[in-house]
Amino acid sequence: MSLKSKRVFITGAASGIGKAIALRFAEAGAYVCIADIDEVKAQAVVTEIEQYGTGAISVVVDVADEKAVEHGVAAMVEKWGGVDILISNAGVQHIKAVNELAYKDWQKIIAIHLDGAFLTTRACLRHMYSQKEGGCILYMGSVHSKAASALKAPYVAAKHALLGLCRTVAIEGAEHNVRANVICPGFVRTPLVDKQIPEQALDLGITEDEVIKSVMLKETVDGEFTTTEDVAELAVFLADFPSKALTGQSMIVSHGWHME
Ligand code: NAD
Repeated sequence: MSLKSKRVFITGAASGIGKAIALRFAEAGAYVCIADIDEVKAQAVVTEIEQYGTGAISVVVDVADEKAVEHGVAAMVEKWGGVDILISNAGVQHIKAVNELAYKDWQKIIAIHLDGAFLTTRACLRHMYSQKEGGCILYMGSVHSKAASALKAPYVAAKHALLGLCRTVAIEGAEHNVRANVICPGFVRTPLVDKQIPEQALDLGITEDEVIKSVMLKETVDGEFTTTEDVAELAVFLADFPSKALTGQSMIVSHGWHME
């Protein structure tokens, strides 16, 4: 699947990793739909993409809202006639020990990461199946799809669950030439991570510098953050892969944190 003229629906693409992927795919000639709850930032990404001369639109979508997801995908299909690639990326984090975690916070994290992945997958799959041109779904997992850390129970649970969703979609999608894979980044310096550094420092009773060195990057091979560009390159590789030999898999990009 060459990315040129492919129609890509990317959630959470107004910031961080999603934004970097949107820019990288647009650079490769794809049409990109920026789906996010932040309308202003999403539109700013569209403006940035216009420099590549390919099409870009933004749609306001809360991925945990069934109707909003349906409308967002329908708006893209109306604009470009279909959808070839879904990148289910929108996400938030919540730092709290399990014994202190409010049920509503558990539900919110699960809803955005897992319900959001399901709802966007279902909406896009229906079009991919009827288009009969195949398709590709990439889920933004995490090293936390494979390993756990303290204070992140709903995030870790949802990221693990994405592996199950991906594998099921890979099996069901095969006869329609739809592939599904999970990207599993280590720590990437985005607003999501910047917010949790002081929160973790407070909860663990250590300095912010210690959070970075002794918690986040401790198990990398070189003490470095993964970049948004690193993750975008992996997304291009997975989306561009030419056959169903690569489906149902999850790939870590983390400077060596959690080798398997
Ligand atoms: P970010 O905060 O920079 O961007 C997240 C985007 O998601 C924002 O634009 C936000 O508006 C949007 N969003 C939040 N809730 C939404 C909702 N309900 N509906 C639609 N959009 C919503 O964060 P990021 O670090 O770029 O994270 C992107 C994804 O990467 C997340 O799934 C995250 O779990 C995953 N991830 C991040 C890291 C990291 O270290 N930053 C590591 C592994 C995985």
